[in-house]
Amino acid sequence: MSDDPRIDTSVAHPARRYDYLLGGKDNFEADRRSAAEIVKRHPTARLSAQENRFFMHRAVRYMARRGIRQFLDIGTGIPTSPNTHEIAQEIEPAARIVYVDNDPLVLVHARALLTGTEQGRTTYIEADLRDPAKILADSEVRDTLDLTEPVGLLLIAVLHFIRDDDDPAAILGTLIDALPAGSVVAASHATPEYMPAEQVATLRAVMERQWRDRTGTELRELFTRPDLRLLGPGIQSVARWWPDEAPQPRPAVESVASNGVMAEIR
Ligand code: SAH
Repeated sequence: MSDDPRIDTSVAHPARRYDYLLGGKDNFEADRRSAAEIVKRHPTARLSAQENRFFMHRAVRYMARRGIRQFLDIGTGIPTSPNTHEIAQEIEPAARIVYVDNDPLVLVHARALLTGTEQGRTTYIEADLRDPAKILADSEVRDTLDLTEPVGLLLIAVLHFIRDDDDPAAILGTLIDALPAGSVVAASHATPEYMPAEQVATLRAVMERQWRDRTGTELRELFTRPDLRLLGPGIQSVARWWPDEAPQPRPAVESVASNGVMAEIR
């Protein structure tokens, strides 16, 4: 573990709570308590987390098969196998990946667990999605990724931690502007739309100000730009996104509180 003073185990953190929901071991009492509160209000929260992960697998596989050789995965989370680099490097051993998270604990685990292949390079930086220019200027990012070649940008289950006053459209715009045509961005996002209203209200109360769920329409607005072309079924529950390529059987949309989107940069 780490003696980093910024790692406060007495309050719930998104990465560790999510790790717990996925059945991981890298979490603490406060995270488990918070997760239990969520499960009380959204009994299929574990399934939601897993389905979100499965969507990420399909997105990375698609990008790698399409010939994308480099990935920027922001809001990585605590490593959970298979991670982005494992999926990408299985298809393209020379794929290069930069992981980004703002939780210092994620980086402690990432350093230990996220090792690349001989040819592929896997690296990680501690940075905040709310400062995308800093991510793009980071020397590790610049050394690992060639921003003149297509990049797979992953924003999986992280945009709902960006509040409206942090301007998610501008954040996304800064990242997209930096990537060349042929790049692909994939995101998943917590949504209230498949849940009864009282469940949404209690969930929001538990998540307090950490969280901004967005409907599919709100997510679509974020991805409506002349330089983006939506792929696949557009904005759709992660449970329904390319269902034939997902593990079967597919769960009901009502048990998965998350939408997915993939778009090509033109
Ligand atoms: N993408 C992973 C993990 C999702 S959990 C997956 O889908 O499996 C959300 C992650 O986003 C957590 O690890 C959390 O620490 C990170 N995160 C939240 N807000 C962030 C921010 N502003 N900048 C960078 N990372 C952030």
